Amino acid sequence: MDRPASALKELIENSIDAHATQIDLFLAEGGVQEMRVVDNGDGIHPDDFPLLATSHATSKIRHIGDLEFASTLGFRGEALHALSVVSTLRIRSRRDGFSGMEASFSGGEATEILPVGITKGTVVIVQDLFHSLPARLRFLGSSSEEAARCRKVVLDHLLAHPQIAFTLKHGNRTLLRSGGNNHLPDLASLSWGQEVAACALPIEIKGEEWALSGLLTRPDHGIRGKKGLHVSVNGRPVSMPGINAGLKKACSGWMGDGRSPQAILRFTVPADRVDVNVHPTKSRVALRVEGWSDLLIQETRKSLTSLLGLPSLSLGGEIEQRHLPLDKPVGYLGIVFGTFLVFTQEDELILLDGHAASERVLYEELGAQAPPAAQPLLSPIETPLPIQVSHRRALWKRLGILWEEHPTHWLVTALPPHIPAHALSITDAEEDERAEDFRESLRSGACRGSWRGGMEMNSALAQSLWNGWIRCQDPWTCPHGRRVALRLQRDDAERLFQRKTD
Ligand code: ADP
Ligand code: MG
Repeated sequence: MDRPASALKELIENSIDAHATQIDLFLAEGGVQEMRVVDNGDGIHPDDFPLLATSHATSKIRHIGDLEFASTLGFRGEALHALSVVSTLRIRSRRDGFSGMEASFSGGEATEILPVGITKGTVVIVQDLFHSLPARLRFLGSSSEEAARCRKVVLDHLLAHPQIAFTLKHGNRTLLRSGGNNHLPDLASLSWGQEVAACALPIEIKGEEWALSGLLTRPDHGIRGKKGLHVSVNGRPVSMPGINAGLKKACSGWMGDGRSPQAILRFTVPADRVDVNVHPTKSRVALRVEGWSDLLIQETRKSLTSLLGLPSLSLGGEIEQRHLPLDKPVGYLGIVFGTFLVFTQEDELILLDGHAASERVLYEELGAQAPPAAQPLLSPIETPLPIQVSHRRALWKRLGILWEEHPTHWLVTALPPHIPAHALSITDAEEDERAEDFRESLRSGACRGSWRGGMEMNSALAQSLWNGWIRCQDPWTCPHGRRVALRLQRDDAERLFQRKTD
């Protein structure tokens, strides 16, 4: 126990073990001055009071086998003992059918035990944490930093137990509040913000003897690092090696540059399949179940595909996401809202995001193995000398660009049809140095080189964009994972206008 947050974690886990459905937490001065945990759980038997804070006192091991199964959150009987040594500890508690008791503890001993009137449940009050350990105190951050660490601990527990109502207050500020209504998207907003949580995707996986349920953010709400990742196993917040990498893998193609979706993942696994002893504080676990990681990747890809495939405006019925006869001719009607190209195709109306489609085309073209044939330019384009000469040579060669090298500049003489002239800034050396890998440089190059709202668009350009787009291997998303097209079928329109009722 090295800081208020780790003490708070132990106290919360005790309340959860005692089947509390409401847990209220108060902190003063980052938890150092006071930490108070109020729960409505089972309470403590009066006979147990004298022993509560002795070393290895636990009510949670009835059989020697329990040690292995570790089905409750804490089982070492050390938390209250440790707290009684490094703080002023007081506990009030009442169990159904018994009278309430209050005790103060110091150095592992109960100093005073008195009867007290209290509703069912337990109140644990920790004051002056680490008062006897000035070195430990110096190592702590400011009270708002310590409160933020406490908030993280509570948040992890609250997401692992959506059916428990939590409140966390620091002084008179409420840092967290959850209703215990088991509604994960509401709770997720406490970590990710309302907007991101509102469009998160539920994930449910049933393995042979394990299950996973949770939420994933859309790829475009992915972030670098693990801040938005909350994993729990059998109600215990944990970190599990490999999860972030798995999610990243599952989303490759939809998002890049080291980001991964934020996620709440709640595993339910037979207790004997959890290796909790990977780490002394039990915060890192390994699962001994076959194939969970592959299934997670597979299911994540599935739900992202259904999200990012071509969505329809259809109101009813199952839609075959990818069914759009791309090879049929389209008519270009015009452009709306600055960026959406409107096409018709037989019984469909299609809205194409011009920028996203053009980005996709360019992205695939830039990454193509064999560069498309270059067409000579009527007036060659002069570009400044690159800083990384060999890098630019390699990239331009790969893109199928033809050029002449002069001592003061390079002259581009031919370009493949789908690379617009302004895409030549793609290989801007500064950008390339920062690019993590070739794909990323393609992605940012495609973004900068592609058509955007405000640029010229006419029927010929629209048709050529359409033709380029339908040849893409993965037409439904732009390189950043955003949607490229929407469709409205005649049927849907008729239903929307209530010409049809089925
Ligand atoms: P452990 O949780 O490993 O058993 P602790 O030192 O955390 O050890 O707690 C010691 C004992 O105190 C627990 O086994 C439990 O019987 C009792 N206890 C602690 N907190 C609570 C609580 N909030 N509600 C009911 N009993 C509690
Ligand atoms: Mg405990």
